Amino acid sequence: MSRSQSIESLRNIGIMAHIDAGKTTTTERILYFTGVVHKIGEVHYGTAVMDYMLQERERGITITSAATTCYWKQSQINIVDTPGHVDFTVEVQRSLRILDGAVAVFCAVGGVEPQSETVWRQANEYKVPRIAFVNKMDRVGANFHNVVLQMREKLYAKPVVMQLPVGESDNYSGHIDLLSMKYHCFDESESDSLNFRVLDIPSAFIDEANALREQLVEVAAEMSDVLMEKYFSGAVISVDEIVSSIRKGCISSQIVPVFCGASFKNKGIQQLLDGVVDFLPSPLDRGSVEGFSSVDHSVSVVRHPSDESAFSGLVYKVVSDGFVGRLVFLRVYSGVVKVGDQILNTTLGKKERISRILKVHANVREDVQEARTGDIVALIGLKVTKTGETICDLQSPVLFEQIHFAEPVINQAIEPKTSVDQEKLQEALRRLADEDPTFIYKVDDESGQTVISGVGELHLEIAVDRLLREFNVAANIGKPQVAYRETVGVPADAKFVFERQVAGKNQFASVALRIVPLSYDAPNVIQISAVSSGLSERYRDALESGLRDGLMNGPVAGYPVVGLSVDVYEVEFRDHDSVEVAYKIAVINALRQAMRDGKPSLLEPTFLMDVTTPVEYMGDVIGDLTSRRSKILGIEQKNDSQYIQVEIPLSETFGYVTRLRSLSQGRASYSMKFHSYGKAEHIPFEISGNY
Ligand code: GDP
Ligand code: MG
Repeated sequence: MSRSQSIESLRNIGIMAHIDAGKTTTTERILYFTGVVHKIGEVHYGTAVMDYMLQERERGITITSAATTCYWKQSQINIVDTPGHVDFTVEVQRSLRILDGAVAVFCAVGGVEPQSETVWRQANEYKVPRIAFVNKMDRVGANFHNVVLQMREKLYAKPVVMQLPVGESDNYSGHIDLLSMKYHCFDESESDSLNFRVLDIPSAFIDEANALREQLVEVAAEMSDVLMEKYFSGAVISVDEIVSSIRKGCISSQIVPVFCGASFKNKGIQQLLDGVVDFLPSPLDRGSVEGFSSVDHSVSVVRHPSDESAFSGLVYKVVSDGFVGRLVFLRVYSGVVKVGDQILNTTLGKKERISRILKVHANVREDVQEARTGDIVALIGLKVTKTGETICDLQSPVLFEQIHFAEPVINQAIEPKTSVDQEKLQEALRRLADEDPTFIYKVDDESGQTVISGVGELHLEIAVDRLLREFNVAANIGKPQVAYRETVGVPADAKFVFERQVAGKNQFASVALRIVPLSYDAPNVIQISAVSSGLSERYRDALESGLRDGLMNGPVAGYPVVGLSVDVYEVEFRDHDSVEVAYKIAVINALRQAMRDGKPSLLEPTFLMDVTTPVEYMGDVIGDLTSRRSKILGIEQKNDSQYIQVEIPLSETFGYVTRLRSLSQGRASYSMKFHSYGKAEHIPFEISGNY
């Protein structure tokens, strides 16, 4: 089979935005205008194609990065829907990793909100070229130029205006296309003809359009030496020349072409699609992808985006599906992969076989025989491959950089109502954890209690919702709790001798160890330097497993211990009497003793929070933040808004959404991201023992 779509004409894009800016509506309209769906699904009727999960519909937000394919002019556009809520930055991050470009949607009224800033910074980090779409031009208070200004001031972007809106709010009727210098007038009254008419620029807009056109040409000239010369010599610069120069600037992330419209009213979508094709990169423009050797991580391995290269790709999402089973979403970076192929999971060093390949349009799937360079597809048949892992040709291994995920910082207890529910719960948890690397669960050996962990309140709320409704588990759910950690403050030594008669047989083990604190965010280091002729592999394993178990239960309140180095430096051995279990018990006891003596402390997660509030609520908002043990890092005033940045302990953010809303009559907003673990100043529960 040959390629049906050239690599140059592929666009793998994401649509990113602040929540409610209109991602879902815009995506819907794109699918409509590209002919994928014939009936427009309105978000408020809950039928939007991309938001296909039940709870997403109800909440009206988008959680999963569903992938969908559509065609515009000669190009194939693969859209990965990215969520806007900060609790889901993991979703945003993993989709950014595999995108070639993005459309940043802003609300013409709200402008650049704190969460857009977070996502924008992440897109900078992953070097994803962007175009901007200023949506909701039909709303009262819409201000296109203000959003452009905010992009400059808050995002430090270099926006280049491609369209001049004609009218605002109720009078918004379309835009002047600064390339063709024509007025695209959308006619609302003809509700079934979703088209626009191309008219001459209304006289009242001629001066402003000319001035903006001049700016556009200037920016284009800055992006190309040839154009620059033409510009200064006064020669005529063609539209094609402007487009290709602006494209160059966009792909190299120097500039952000800005479009406008009102998705809800079907205005500006076709032109936005032209913008995607004209300015966002193809996989070829993104160039070679760098990975490294699976054997030696210091050796770099490069994959060229070509069907002739060896196959390689990155898995960016796993979804369990009731009908087809495990869907493994893949971005192909090089080569071709076919149904029936055996591939190497380089991350795990395991081989797997692909039984089906699907092209996905939200919840509609089409079987295909192969996936080629640049494609985004779902694979069926892979059993162990997870999000963030590299798969490739058996003969040409390459390993791409892992995706880094946020810390699970919130716990919640779940108590199934019956033993049938207990079984259902286990299966459901296994599937949720398989789909989402930041979702973790644990069954406590002693209490039998099940605890789930995630990156934020909303993250767990959604998971619980899925457990109860999608998986039909009947269960009592505890309150969200902070996932504390523990560490020690000073080095300490301890020795433990275990000696006991069990079933008439003597059991003996003696272990001495030393613990040394590292930094709070360092992983634990386990070492067994004891030199003993009798210390076989089995005993070593018993010691290591004892240490790992012991580190799961800190001395303060039983939370996992971090930032600790442990060395078992002395092990006594007695022929016949020494058994593995004795070593394990001895080492756990020695570790516990040492940690108690090592001035243990409780660590709590803190977050960086950005709050935006109208000036009049500033005093109340700050007063409230201060009472929540937060440290104020910065206050800044822009226009009528006040920005406050604080570092705040996670436990103090529970329920903050509601509080902030009531303090500001719903006008303030905030975003937050994990900062670090720090010493807990305030311990919210009784601590027993000799802490
Ligand atoms: P998302 O959270 O970014 O996916 O935003 P949605 O697409 O769900 O839109 C949020 C709300 O804004 C919904 O009620 C939409 O109907 C509404 N909306 C979206 N686009 C427009 C628009 O162009 N104009 C107006 N007035 N409302 C819009
Ligand atoms: Mg949405």
